[in-house]
Amino acid sequence: MKIRILIAAAILSVPLCPVIGQQQLSETLRNHVTVLASDSLSGRGFGFPEKHLAVDYIIKQYEAAGFSAPYDGGYIHKFEHRTEIALIEGKNIIGIIEGSDPVLKNEYILLGAHLDHMGWKVVNGQKVVWNGADDNASGVAAIIEAGRILMANRESLGRSVIIAAFDGEEAGLLGSSAFAKTEVPGKFKVRMMFSIDMVGMLEKNGGINHAGFGALTGGEELAARIILENGLTINKAYDKIEFRTDTWPFAAKGIPAVYISTGLVSPYHKPEDDAHLLDYAGMARIVEMMAGTAVELSNLKPLDADARYIVRKTDPGVSAGFRAGYGSAFHAHTTQFYNAKPLLSAEAGLEAQLRLTRNIRLQPAVTYQLSGSKTDAGKLRTHSLVPQLDLLLTNSGGSVMTPTVFLLTGAYYSWSFAGKEGGAPADFLAKYDKADYGLRLGAGMNIMKVQFTYVYKYGLNRVNLDPAGGEIFNRGFHFALTRYF
Ligand SMILES: [Zn+2]
Repeated sequence: MKIRILIAAAILSVPLCPVIGQQQLSETLRNHVTVLASDSLSGRGFGFPEKHLAVDYIIKQYEAAGFSAPYDGGYIHKFEHRTEIALIEGKNIIGIIEGSDPVLKNEYILLGAHLDHMGWKVVNGQKVVWNGADDNASGVAAIIEAGRILMANRESLGRSVIIAAFDGEEAGLLGSSAFAKTEVPGKFKVRMMFSIDMVGMLEKNGGINHAGFGALTGGEELAARIILENGLTINKAYDKIEFRTDTWPFAAKGIPAVYISTGLVSPYHKPEDDAHLLDYAGMARIVEMMAGTAVELSNLKPLDADARYIVRKTDPGVSAGFRAGYGSAFHAHTTQFYNAKPLLSAEAGLEAQLRLTRNIRLQPAVTYQLSGSKTDAGKLRTHSLVPQLDLLLTNSGGSVMTPTVFLLTGAYYSWSFAGKEGGAPADFLAKYDKADYGLRLGAGMNIMKVQFTYVYKYGLNRVNLDPAGGEIFNRGFHFALTRYF
């Protein structure tokens, strides 16, 4: 492993030409954060009027850095967010650094950071501003300066780079979702993205946290090497896509999406998150590391999502599968003192699962069922077509891949198209009703595209047509296994 890393380092690392020294870089970062996290910007709240001051400031920095403006010569990607009482216009600020490879430059590495924070409130008669210096003026300052280094090293860039200051993150990843939805991959073929979110506490956190590098083939080794090469250490690394930052909407499109942070060690989501608390020397080192990472990834061939990740990336909300089950069925003679003896039952058919909310799923199915009971005339065997609809109450969201347990309640309708009793054809004209309906109650679990269920079937309509035979109902227990496609 070590040898591999060293060889890769020798081949891939391109020394970047710094624009300014580390000391000056850290002062520039301090200036950005001081402006963005000042009280006059009122906490950059989504939909708050003062946020335009942040937008204007960032645009000025993009212009000074020389980023290309992809929206008719402007940097703003607008989106709308409708709430119950208002229609809020959001603004992502998008700058482009064109790569130098004639083919690869049509693909993009995105360096993103959310520009919004939590605004202000009046507390005990006083206006209190959530300045959000670490969260996330630090990230915005970092992408601007990483972009400036990349502009000076454009000949080393293969793919192009997007510098994206996203709006509306705190309000629910609104800006990044809108951008991923309408611009990717149509306008921008983004191959990998980063959400740089809270990077102002390097020393206090004891290193960098990163999550999601494993979504890129060889990504974790690459991250370990680059971070080490830049004289930084990894404090925590997670093999997951972070859902609380702008990585999530890109990951949902199968794009490797990495969260870079120095953790939640600042006064996270508190009014005390102010500019003077940040470690600007540490930020400067992270900026240089990010610029190096972007250059390296811009030239990496192939740049592919890891196969495990492709399987895990999305939750389509709808799945279908094949179900097979077995159990026992019997006639319950509710007006008499005995029940018929059970017979083996079996079923096979198709099942679908639709996620309605995080904890509720709808599960329609159509199966063929072999059912029956021991009767006074011998063994009754029926062959039926059974449409059914279950409601699942789950302990977690996710897909059929996610380990989930659930309770199930539903209804079935059964139509018997053939049957035998005591060796002769079952009498569906005078003795038994072809149709049966009732309730399904059960429990089960999903894991890795397989579902196990245990269900009790409770018939509600009398199956014997001749009332002289008393009241007879279908009952049964069965165990089923569904394999999702
Ligand atoms: Zn944040």
